[in-house]
Amino acid sequence: MTQATSEALASKAKTIIRDVPDFPKKGIIFKDITPLLADPAAFAEMVKHFAEHFRNAGITKVLGIEARGFLLAAPIAVELGAGLIPVRKKGKLPYKTVSAAYALEYGTDTLEMHEDAVMPGEKVLIVDDVLATGGTAAAVCSLVDGLGGKVAGVAMLIELEFLKGREKLAGRSTYSLIKY
Ligand code: AMP
Repeated sequence: MTQATSEALASKAKTIIRDVPDFPKKGIIFKDITPLLADPAAFAEMVKHFAEHFRNAGITKVLGIEARGFLLAAPIAVELGAGLIPVRKKGKLPYKTVSAAYALEYGTDTLEMHEDAVMPGEKVLIVDDVLATGGTAAAVCSLVDGLGGKVAGVAMLIELEFLKGREKLAGRSTYSLIKY
């Protein structure tokens, strides 16, 4: 896709994504992607755009981060002919897991993935809706690294550039469509 086309897609998506002030707490402007998911043409275009961007990267697994990452990762995986890996909050996955803790504003949280989700050398695309401080995506990269997988890309629908999350993903191929 040309630069001009991706800019057109990004500005169209910006008009559809809804800002919800003070959710989940005061001072946060929540980027609500549900209107985009509910728009069949815009959603399909978005999925195709991300799949095209990573089409020739040899990706065999697409990893979605709980919960909104699942909604984007699943159709991208199908479009790429790849498998899907869910990364979930602690205690949700049924089989043996590997885990990574990451810092929140106050305290820490833990993400988990099944220990057999990624084979050594396998190329993995990590997908989520929003890149904010980058702590979540960096923790997920470390899970993939830990199993011997290769992070072939980190794909975010939205990047909040002022939070500098990209700095935590130095050396990773990070792609976001919409920037604020
Ligand atoms: P971070 O670890 O700070 O990059 O936060 C990323 C995670 O928090 C992602 O899973 C996002 O879904 C969520 N998130 C952070 N900030 C926002 C926001 N302003 N709107 C929607 N989701 C957000």
